[in-house]
Amino acid sequence: TYVVTDNCIACKYTDCVEVCPVDCFYEGENMLVIHPDECIDCGVCEPECPADAIKPDTEPDMEKWVEFNRKYSEAW
Ligand code: SF4
Repeated sequence: TYVVTDNCIACKYTDCVEVCPVDCFYEGENMLVIHPDECIDCGVCEPECPADAIKPDTEPDMEKWVEFNRKYSEAW
């Protein structure tokens, strides 16, 4: 899965949401999140993010961000 990290906070762009083929972005408290079970790992959103906030969970120390993204995407 891909996850949204804290660079997203206060970003006003939603370019990522527009390109996601499965609509798995959700609104968190002050940033967007990706539902980790709905993301199909296509990677299309990553280069679209102007804040460089979207990362694959294969990068180091992403576990907490996966849980954070899950928590806020399941709040809906
Ligand atoms: Fe959506 Fe693809 Fe980004 Fe996952 S990697 S959030 S499926 S655009």
